[in-house]
Amino acid sequence: MEVYESFNRDDTFDLGFSLAKAAVPREVISLNGDLGAGKTVFTKGFAAGLGIEEELDSPTFSILKSYYTGRLPLHHFDVYRIQSEEELDETGYEDCFYGEGVSLIEWGNLVSRILPLDAVIVNIERDYGKGDDYRRIEVSGPDKLIHEASRN
Ligand code: ADP
Ligand code: MG
Repeated sequence: MEVYESFNRDDTFDLGFSLAKAAVPREVISLNGDLGAGKTVFTKGFAAGLGIEEELDSPTFSILKSYYTGRLPLHHFDVYRIQSEEELDETGYEDCFYGEGVSLIEWGNLVSRILPLDAVIVNIERDYGKGDDYRRIEVSGPDKLIHEASRN
């Protein structure tokens, strides 16, 4: 496990950017953290790191949005409002997880049962003692990916 300290929005963006540089096909990343933790900021950095130039917005009204203009396809999920297993199945997540792209799942902890065993887990936590903009970001999962990301 690697622990990063983020002191502002850009630090979190940059961490996503670095992890994207090391990303490989079929990587699945679960982003865990409360509302406003920075999961979407991280995803924006990740998209930029893949060379995706389109604006990435929070998929609030859809569970999944895919982007195909970067080095690898990016499948961005937000499962916060998911109501049923059926709804999840309808997204076709299996084709995303086991295809050639990278999947990022905001609130992945809510659907941990369906995550591949080798998913990368990113936990973003506040520490109010350290100010509004501070985030402690834990990255755990296959060691190779994490070490490559931290070298970037
Ligand atoms: P989430 O997707 O986890 O609900 P967002 O990424 O949409 O959260 O929003 C995070 C908000 O917190 C943004 O408004 C961002 O500017 C702000 N922010 C402040 N400090 C940080 C930080 N260190 N990392 C990420 N976002 C931060
Ligand atoms: Mg979000």
